[in-house]
Amino acid sequence: MMTFSQLTKRFGDSTVFADLDLTINKGEIVVIIGPSGTGKSTLLRCINFLEQAEQGQITIDDVNVDSAKANKADILALRRKTGFVFQNYALFAHMTAKQNIAEGLITVKGWTKEDAYRKAQQILDDIGLGDKAESYPAALSGGQQQRVGIGRAMAQDAELLLFDEPTSALDPEWVGEVLGLMKTLAQRHQTMLVVTHEMQFAREVADRVIFMADGRFVEQGTPDQIFNHPQDQRLQKFLRQVG
Ligand code: ADP
Ligand code: MG
Repeated sequence: MMTFSQLTKRFGDSTVFADLDLTINKGEIVVIIGPSGTGKSTLLRCINFLEQAEQGQITIDDVNVDSAKANKADILALRRKTGFVFQNYALFAHMTAKQNIAEGLITVKGWTKEDAYRKAQQILDDIGLGDKAESYPAALSGGQQQRVGIGRAMAQDAELLLFDEPTSALDPEWVGEVLGLMKTLAQRHQTMLVVTHEMQFAREVADRVIFMADGRFVEQGTPDQIFNHPQDQRLQKFLRQVG
């Protein structure tokens, strides 16, 4: 249901990745692990056009976009199919929790303020933050802020949610509640592509784990295959380091 093929991204002379292919099935939870600097964030950003890849087809449902010649309409169409959860939450400091969630519905989906605020309140109720609707990010804990960040992505009713290390900026005490919300989404069969260093989450929740190194998908498989029977030496070394 979601495919990218031949995806290539360079910054100046340096190639982050070349000719990457991936297909994700509807409802599938795919977790990408791997050392830092290997292109995981750039990959997610290229799927959502926060960065533009030099080459590659991105297809989600009925939307197909050629990275090399995407125009604004293509990019908007693709963004309507995806939600993005950032490492540092990226909430608007001058907006309440409810406004943060409603904003994308108004700007990306063209909803009225009234409808967007109603939906935002529903989402906040759903994620256990109904009483924080009028709070500004500075008044929320890190865990609550990131749950709002996830709520913002959920509000889009996106085919695919992209998570870029959603817990790595959090104090340890808040990690559990954020992973808990992600597990809830997984149980609802929300299709997700997750970059994380939370190996326990990957073991428990992923349908498929991909080990990425040096811009390549070095090895992929079920959590059992990747964590209990790793084949590639770089993966074995990586698991020793993080384990
Ligand atoms: P990861 O998320 O796996 O840690 P990144 O995707 O952030 O890796 O980075 C991959 C490579 O691309 C790194 O070498 C990084 O320095 C480089 N890079 C990322 N973003 C930019 C940018 N905006 N401009 C130049 N180089 C970048
Ligand atoms: Mg990264």
